[in-house]
Amino acid sequence: MNVSTMIDPTEAVVEPRPETIEGLDNWRTRPTKQQPPWPDQAAADAVSEHLLRVPPLVFAGEVDQLRNQLATVARGEAFVLQGGDCAETFAGATADQIRNRVKTILQMAVVLTYGASLPVVKMGRMAGQFAKPRSSDEETRDGVTLPAYRGDMVNGYEFTEESRTPNPERMLEGYHTAASTLNLIRAFTQGGFADLRMVHSWNRGFAENPANRRYEGLAREIDRAVKFMEAAGANFDELKRVDFFASHEGLLMEYERAMTRIDSRTGLPYDTSAHFLWIGERTRDLDGAHVDFFSRVQNPIGVKLGPSTTVDDMNRLIDILDPDRVPGRLTFITRMGAGTIRDALPPLLDAAQRSEATPIWITDPMHGNGITTQTGFKTRRFDDVVDEVKGFFEAHREVGSHPGGLHVELTGDDVTECMGGTQRIDELGLETRYESLCDPRLNHQQSLELSFLVAEELAV
Ligand code: PEP
Ligand code: MN
Repeated sequence: MNVSTMIDPTEAVVEPRPETIEGLDNWRTRPTKQQPPWPDQAAADAVSEHLLRVPPLVFAGEVDQLRNQLATVARGEAFVLQGGDCAETFAGATADQIRNRVKTILQMAVVLTYGASLPVVKMGRMAGQFAKPRSSDEETRDGVTLPAYRGDMVNGYEFTEESRTPNPERMLEGYHTAASTLNLIRAFTQGGFADLRMVHSWNRGFAENPANRRYEGLAREIDRAVKFMEAAGANFDELKRVDFFASHEGLLMEYERAMTRIDSRTGLPYDTSAHFLWIGERTRDLDGAHVDFFSRVQNPIGVKLGPSTTVDDMNRLIDILDPDRVPGRLTFITRMGAGTIRDALPPLLDAAQRSEATPIWITDPMHGNGITTQTGFKTRRFDDVVDEVKGFFEAHREVGSHPGGLHVELTGDDVTECMGGTQRIDELGLETRYESLCDPRLNHQQSLELSFLVAEELAV
């Protein structure tokens, strides 16, 4: 039969898939915090329409794999490392910067794997961390007031009216920048760059630095373990590739909704902008748009929990976001502050244990420990970061629950944004290389040092 006679040309036009199921747009009826006031809503709608038709950034099957890996964390059989910029920038999506961040995370993961004797699930705050919640809608400089910077996906950092005006076209640039970042991450982590022996040799370099002598012993132990594996015939070809997942704060509702696809295998919605999305401390209202929307997608979901979180809030978040109690579905990322975690966390852990839910607990030792110096730098003390991590482990030991992982703002570059560490960055030193447009990040050395300290905690 002549094929052309079978196709009615009017039917051959591919209708856009509606990419919806009942309830997926219910969030539109809810209070929606932290959204940009687009000056031209029609232009924003046009971008959303466009994004509904672009290829997904991640495949739903990968999202399921991550959920399965996170289920092992929920069972206490693995650990999570999640790290990257506070706010990624379009200009920062260069090969060097992406490589340095991936390298830092891989290096940390090797140390943590050894310390915990457990697999480490690796997630970047990368390839999509372009939208930021702000405590104030506006910023004033020298008497001039303009909209606050909300991340490169919304407006520019430059302090001019034009740059600070939200521009929906930036959502498209965010999509393309996420795509190219993810492409390079996949190349690095699948193409040989993640080879265990190479990653470990970078760590040896860190421990050989006289400033880091304290960590030499642990580095030597890992060295022996790698040599033992080699001698015992471990398949190092297998260890040249690692799974590396992308995550960001699910904040910009138009973007996240537009990137959501109905998976042809299961008929269920997946937010294909990243493997893992988290809801921030400022947008986790129980009746808000973010909680409603993310309750309806299949991705594993995180929620940031600050020091004021009550047991009731936590239980209701569990009921809404993980009604079926699926291990790996829900992660609580606590950001309590070093002085608060030992009091605030145990009651939550205890209550979670008494429910039949199995949320993963990750510590974010960054966001509860922010300070501003007299010279105006937003910074954090490395010692406070370490203290919160220690408090996290103590709380879990007290309750008998699994400390599931670590969430840090870091970069692979030698910036000077957080104070302390073996480089002893002080207030004056912050001026040397402060590059973050948002929160201060641990630099490469501080990140590695933190991983060695956490490895010591894990080995206790
Ligand atoms: C962040 O992770 O950059 C952030 C804004 O965190 P939180 O929601 O915990 O304040
Ligand atoms: Mn931050």
